[in-house]
Amino acid sequence: DAAPETRSFEADVARLLHMMVHSVYSDKDVFLRELVSNAADACEKLRYEGIADPALLGEDPQPRITVTLDAGGRRLTIEDNGIGMSEAELGEALGTIARSGTKAFMDRIAGAKDAEGSQLIGQFGVGFYSAFMVADRVDVTSRRAGADSAATWSSDGLGTYTIQPADIAGAPVRGTRVELHLKEDAADYADGFTVERRIKAQSGHVPVPIWLKDTPDADARQIADGAALWTRPKGEISQDEYRDFYRTAAGQFDDPALTLHYRAEGLHEYNVLAFIPGSRPFDLFDPDRAGRMKLYVRRVFITDEAQLLPRYLRFARGLIDSADMPLNVSREMIQQSPVLAAIQKGVANRILSELDKLSASDAGAYLKIWETFGAVLKEGLYEDPSRREALLGLARFRTTTAAGEWRSLKDYAAGLKENQTAIYYAIGTDLDRLASSPQLEGYRARGIEVLLLTDQIDSFWAAAGAEYEGKPFKSVTQGQADLSLIAPAEGEAAAPAASEAVDGFIAYVKTVLGDAVSDVRASDRLTESAVCLVAPDNAMDRQLEKLLAGAGQ
Ligand code: ADP
Ligand code: MG
Repeated sequence: DAAPETRSFEADVARLLHMMVHSVYSDKDVFLRELVSNAADACEKLRYEGIADPALLGEDPQPRITVTLDAGGRRLTIEDNGIGMSEAELGEALGTIARSGTKAFMDRIAGAKDAEGSQLIGQFGVGFYSAFMVADRVDVTSRRAGADSAATWSSDGLGTYTIQPADIAGAPVRGTRVELHLKEDAADYADGFTVERRIKAQSGHVPVPIWLKDTPDADARQIADGAALWTRPKGEISQDEYRDFYRTAAGQFDDPALTLHYRAEGLHEYNVLAFIPGSRPFDLFDPDRAGRMKLYVRRVFITDEAQLLPRYLRFARGLIDSADMPLNVSREMIQQSPVLAAIQKGVANRILSELDKLSASDAGAYLKIWETFGAVLKEGLYEDPSRREALLGLARFRTTTAAGEWRSLKDYAAGLKENQTAIYYAIGTDLDRLASSPQLEGYRARGIEVLLLTDQIDSFWAAAGAEYEGKPFKSVTQGQADLSLIAPAEGEAAAPAASEAVDGFIAYVKTVLGDAVSDVRASDRLTESAVCLVAPDNAMDRQLEKLLAGAGQ
């Protein structure tokens, strides 16, 4: 035999591996979850491809994950009869392609603490490499469904790997075998009791049955039945089961902030198991703003790339399982499916109404969700006029009247002053600076509440003609403040009416500033500061102006 060709990992992958190999993270269990989840993904991919091409399933149509332990040889092997990988795919998937998550992960982890570090691993989709936290060598032998050759990928995680053809007799008939040569301090992972307990806890609800062989010669026993959690009645599922499922399916390590499980019946029939994460997924602000909800048709995984929800709900995780879409729907056609359009609408509405319910039943829990995802939800105020009203109802704001508190527009409306015709807002990047802006003096003097908006998206929706209960949103930096009709709060002096002296002074300022400004006028909005800059009535808000200037528009 010729010696196998040695290849180098792509740079980011190498850095990541270095980190895994030298990992000091205490929670190494995550590697099991990652490898089981890859095996389950591979089975689900095959199940999908097998619909169009049943021959791929051959005489072994039942998906299965088998974990084999060898305490004497300090080995743990995870084998699946899923889709498998060709030689080329092995190299791409496990060596060359740095998933977008890898770099983002490296950036984040640089400043992370021990426990947080291992939690980040799954979240960033760098799952396979976590094997090197417990193994000093990993051999992956794979045979793609339908292929008549197999190959073995092998690495010690120290910078290089090899790929060579494998003897088909020793390879899985179809699928992938991942063999971990355990480090001395990870010998525990060859112990049946330990491994069973950990797999059940972390991966008990993957939709593929899991079998365990305590020794290479032992009979396999089933330790997880592969029943789809979401098809079981709600009342029989515990919070722990939901959480474990969420972690495996969503690649999150936190607890879900909201779990939504229901069955829609009627025109379209589908199951929904959706979660609002307890913390921001790493790719939340990626430019493609892609969602991650998975689409199943009658328990068959179809894709996680269809946009099942509006982009401003992209933080939701979980799945929708349709009972009436055709199983052989091509991935390309999915986005055009009228059934999907109806499902999208139903699920999006349901998520918003559940959030609304939560805000009433548990304000604290709701505010936590708003703090985490409010900036994303507000994108909907700009791009989804059909749900603007619902979203305005969900929105919470920092304002001038209640420092450190979140206020709803309902709260705001209840405090409207006599003759107040608009909802006022100020836009900036820093809450404290914004709160002390001279633009707000006249409002404060009259006891008028002003929304303090500090998210990028605020400039867009606030200027997009939104109204709440018939009141338009109006920027404090824009045009006439029309505050003269509103009485000052007790103890505050009203700004003096314009006098001749003021008129003379204004004329003088105009000649000095010339074309640099379009107008100079006396203002109701200042009580302490001498001057402030405002945008003309019909012009863009100043903050939006800055944002667009920054974006080169
Ligand atoms: P992710 O699962 O997020 O894509 P991983 O690092 O866990 O990232 O896996 C990398 C890739 O390796 C997968 O996307 C898949 O293409 C391939 N892969 C890993 N394990 C298997 C397996 N058991 N069967 C088939 N392909 C696999
Ligand atoms: Mg994975």
